[in-house]
Amino acid sequence: MIVVAIDGAAGVGKSTLARRLAETLRLPYLNTGLMYRAVTLEAIRRRIDLGDGDALGAIAAALLFDLESTDGVAELSIDGSPPSPDLRSAEVEATVSGVSRHPAVRAVLREEQRRLSTGGAVVEGRDIGSVVRPDADVKLFLTATPRERATRRAIERRADPDAVGGALRSRDALDERVHPLVAADDAVEISTTGKDADAVFAEALGVVRERTEGQP
Ligand code: C5P
Repeated sequence: MIVVAIDGAAGVGKSTLARRLAETLRLPYLNTGLMYRAVTLEAIRRRIDLGDGDALGAIAAALLFDLESTDGVAELSIDGSPPSPDLRSAEVEATVSGVSRHPAVRAVLREEQRRLSTGGAVVEGRDIGSVVRPDADVKLFLTATPRERATRRAIERRADPDAVGGALRSRDALDERVHPLVAADDAVEISTTGKDADAVFAEALGVVRERTEGQP
């Protein structure tokens, strides 16, 4: 079964593209950012010290991640439920980089991401083509200008573009310290700046078709 890796920074249009590709290719859709967010939310609720990598790793290991189908495409479920809207809160966004920097957390989630994608999937994240599934059949690396990313996020969250831009910049900087966002050598880079979702989808689907010709 086909594995499509979609990597890129926040606000480049990964989720929109990943879900559409999953629908078209009839594959599960795995959003790995939500897994890091779920560990973060649980850590906030339990008031875990963000410096304690072992405790955070234990939280990651205790969460139950699965793929469940609601409207056709199988998507991530966490402890048997669809991802909570709280995972997208400003508090989680401001905290998640401090959780994802711990190797103990990354090791647990990386193995879970491999397990969930063994039967084929469209997997969205930051290190999927480079670390989680270096064997992916197709690797897409999305980019966009900082202004475009902030504008998109602001529309999505109904928030002020300047505030959103500031939050994105500080999360980028924190994420970059531990896990630089670099495309795998065999990834195809797609710039989404100035393109609507249909244009990005058409371009990405063209790459997928070309790279998976003859595969089931
Ligand atoms: O993609 P999303 O914005 O939901 O990711 C939230 C955070 O989770 C990122 O800022 C990063 O710290 C972490 N993350 C990661 N590796 C991934 C996906 C997300 O470190 N594959």
